[in-house]
Amino acid sequence: MVDVRAVHKSFGSLEVLKGVDLEVRTGEVTVILGPSGSGKSTLLRTINHLEKVDQGWISVDGSLVGYRRSGDKLYELREREILKQRTRIGFVFQNFNLFPHLTVLDNIVEAPVSALKRSRKEVTEAARRLLDRVGLADKADAYPKQLSGGQQQRVAIARALALEPRLLLFDEPTSALDPELVGEVLDVIKDLAHQGTTMIVVTHEIGFAREVADTVVFMDDGRIVEQGAPGDVLDAPKHERTRAFLSKVL
Ligand code: ATP
Ligand code: MG
Repeated sequence: MVDVRAVHKSFGSLEVLKGVDLEVRTGEVTVILGPSGSGKSTLLRTINHLEKVDQGWISVDGSLVGYRRSGDKLYELREREILKQRTRIGFVFQNFNLFPHLTVLDNIVEAPVSALKRSRKEVTEAARRLLDRVGLADKADAYPKQLSGGQQQRVAIARALALEPRLLLFDEPTSALDPELVGEVLDVIKDLAHQGTTMIVVTHEIGFAREVADTVVFMDDGRIVEQGAPGDVLDAPKHERTRAFLSKVL
């Protein structure tokens, strides 16, 4: 479903991704671990073309992300095509990024109506079902600032789901939350995993990785150092850098 091939990315003279290869199968959950600055967020952002790759390519569900191929050359898609592609790849940020001036319901309804031109009535009904699914049916008319961080993040997840994405990307979805609110957000993500949603989750929550991940990926210094089943990578890491990292977070 997701194919990342030989991806390189630099910011000025700083090479942040140094040749990343990653495959994610449909219905599977991949958890990415790694120290600060290792390139985790940058990798996620390249997968929905919030960052352009310098070399290599990425495909999701058989479509190249951000580019089309002609002969052996790649040409960047137009902005409108990129935005359309992005609606199929949900992204949940560390800081929720809800629209502060819109109610919870309108936060969810906005993109399917404006980007996908779906009927407001149908989208509103779907949005209420999604709110119910994330345990916030009673908050439809609240504004983001009236919600706890955990509630805001659950709205952000519902908002991503409203676009019926093929793939969901999470960048440290619980790291801005007070510890007592982490569980409610992880529970929603676990539910999605059990329903077969394809996801890539950057997180430091090792317990979550152990329980939910099909594959755990350890990144360091712009490369994937090690990947495999959670039991292998977390309990019997092969590389010294993975061991050193895990000894700090476990
Ligand atoms: P963290 O765990 O702290 O979130 P990360 O693994 O997500 O770290 P990235 O955010 O991908 O790391 O950043 C990797 C490197 O790229 C860092 O050195 C960062 O400063 C740099 N970087 C990221 N985005 C940009 C940018 N837009 N311009 C310049 N440098 C950037
Ligand atoms: Mg990051």
